[in-house]
Parts: sequence; C-alpha cells; structure tokens
Amino acid sequence: MKAAVLRAYREPLSLEEVDLLPPQTGEIRIRFAASGVCHSDMTRIEGARPSPLPIILGHEASAYVEELGPGVEGLQVGDRVVLSFLYDCGRCFFCRSGHPNLCEVGVGMLRNGTMPDGTTRLRKGDEVLYHMTVSSFAEEAVVPARCATRVPDELPMDVAALIGCGVLTGTGAVFNAARVSPGDSVLIIGAGGVGLNAVQAAAIAGASVIVVSDINPDKLAIARDFGATHVVDARTEDPVAIARDLTHGRGVDFAFEVIGRPATIRQCHDAIRPAGTAIVVGVGEVGDCCEIDTASLPFSEKVLTGTLYGGARPGLDVERLVDLYLNDRLRLDELITRTYRLDQINEAFHDLHEGRLARGLIRYE
Ligand SMILES: [Zn+2]
Ligand SMILES: [Zn+2]
Repeated sequence: MKAAVLRAYREPLSLEEVDLLPPQTGEIRIRFAASGVCHSDMTRIEGARPSPLPIILGHEASAYVEELGPGVEGLQVGDRVVLSFLYDCGRCFFCRSGHPNLCEVGVGMLRNGTMPDGTTRLRKGDEVLYHMTVSSFAEEAVVPARCATRVPDELPMDVAALIGCGVLTGTGAVFNAARVSPGDSVLIIGAGGVGLNAVQAAAIAGASVIVVSDINPDKLAIARDFGATHVVDARTEDPVAIARDLTHGRGVDFAFEVIGRPATIRQCHDAIRPAGTAIVVGVGEVGDCCEIDTASLPFSEKVLTGTLYGGARPGLDVERLVDLYLNDRLRLDELITRTYRLDQINEAFHDLHEGRLARGLIRYE
C-alpha cells in the first residue's frame, strides 16, 4: 500500500510502498476514506516532540473495515468507521475510574508508536511506527478494533473523518471537560479545526457570551458563523480586556486555549472570573512554561487545567455527534477548507503552516 512516511524531521514526507502485516487478535485492517490534516501531525514533522522514526502520520480519519482479526466482535467487513487515536484497554486504573482517555495502555501507544502489544503492523524492511494509533496518511492500516466506531451510511465519509480528532476534542472540551451550561460565558483562543468545534459546542450548550480570539480574520468570520457572539482580532485587540468587559468586569466562566502556547494560556487564566476554569486543549512544546501570579491563586480560586481528547468516550460521543450533525445542529462541512490527494500531502502541510486551513482533508476515494 502507498503511504506518506516521515523519515527525517523538518523534511517533506516521502511517498512510499509500505507493507502491512495481517491483523492480530482484537485488530482490524481498514481502508481509509479520508483523513484530516491536524496540527499535531505538523508539530511532529517539526520535531517538537522528537521520537524514533520512520513513522506514518495522520490520526483523524474515516475508513472501511476490510478484514477482522481473531476475536473481533461488533464489527463486520464493509462497515464504515470513525477512528479514535486513544485506545482504551478497559482494565487499567484510568479506564476503570471513568477516564478512558487517560488509559495507561493507550497513552503508552501514543508515546511509543505501537499497537497494544508494543509492536507495529507496518513494515518497510524494518518496523515503521504508528503516529497516534491510526497512521492515516496511507491507503490502509491495521488498528485495534476498540479504536473504530461504526457510523451510519448517510454520514459522508469526509465529515466522518473530522470527528475522530478535531470534533471530538473541540466539542468534548466544552461538553465533557467544562460541562458548559446555559447562560455561561466562555472565551475560546484559537479558531482552527479544533477551536471552531469548541465554538459551536458552546453555542449548542447555550452559552450567553462566546468570545473568540484569533489572528486570522477568515477564521474569525467562520467563528461568527458558528455561534461566536464576539470576535477578537488578537493582532490589535486584547481578548482579556474584552472578555472582562462583556462579563461585568468579572471575567468569563470558562476559557479554552486551543493553540498550546504559554502566552495564550496565560491570557486564558487572566480572563476567567474567580473560581472560573481555564482549560488547555492545545498541545504545546515539551518544556514550555507559563508564569502565574501565585498569590492570586488562594484569593481567586481559579482553576487551570487541561483536557486530553476532550475527555472523549468515543464509543458514546461519536454517536451523539453524528446525530447532532445529521439533525443540522452541528456544522462539519464548513470546516473543510480544501481537499488533497495523498501525493499532495506536503502541499497540505504547507497550507496548514501558512494558516490557510480550518481543516485540510486528504481524500482516498
Ligand atoms: Zn488532531
Ligand atoms: Zn486502560
């Protein structure tokens, strides 16, 4: 099968023939329909979190089930599925305590680039590693069946792909991590493929004030369309001052940072009211630090936290998001700025780097 392989950091991906081993117990072979091009693929190319190579990137995808490994139940050949990049073993402390997105096995797979047994099914002579369990910049993959959620035929495979990362993460930050309630005020910093989903989730949840800050006017226009009540051009305006002005000087109930940069994390902390919550969704660089005025903490009781994968429980949340989309409550088509073929993947990353994309999508059919 054809795949785009990362062989050296800060170099273009190379298009190669890669071999796929058959699915092992609990695994399936899938044929990709579409894959989103996400920032966490780009930061991997840039070497922000260096790890062994070669590796096949891509983690936000829709696919068809082609082959079932031993012991797989609940899926059939031909099923249309959305992939989750976080495996949940169902047995570790975090799975048992209701945090499957923090599964020890799943998080280890993200770190090591392997399947649950510590090896991979991708070969080019030697072993090729997975990126975030899915490795969807390829025609096919073998993945754990637990990472595939079946979706109905009427769901277009293009938008199905986006659900796997950007939609689950952005809406999950609002629905699962913050549990935004009607009348709450929110600030969202970063209106890309994840942030825009936080915006529309806040609107669905009934937030009264939805302030969205970005440096790209095109993305701010989409944010307004998706339910932002106020947009802030961060090149010339201060989101903290505007958020306070709109909330009787107190600050917002919730602020979401969807970039992963210390300065904007600090802005989120500054923009929330006493006992409000700032949630970091964006993944920053290892070693980055953010300064907080410690004396303010006991007096303000502010909460600064993060969320991985929007606290998603894919088996449950995918179905809810699909229903929201099919009933015209969630807008996904508008997120796709441009589509590419696999052999245009480096062009897609160039466009993402230039800030031109809400979401770019690789199409395999
Ligand atoms: Zn992603
Ligand atoms: Zn687990």
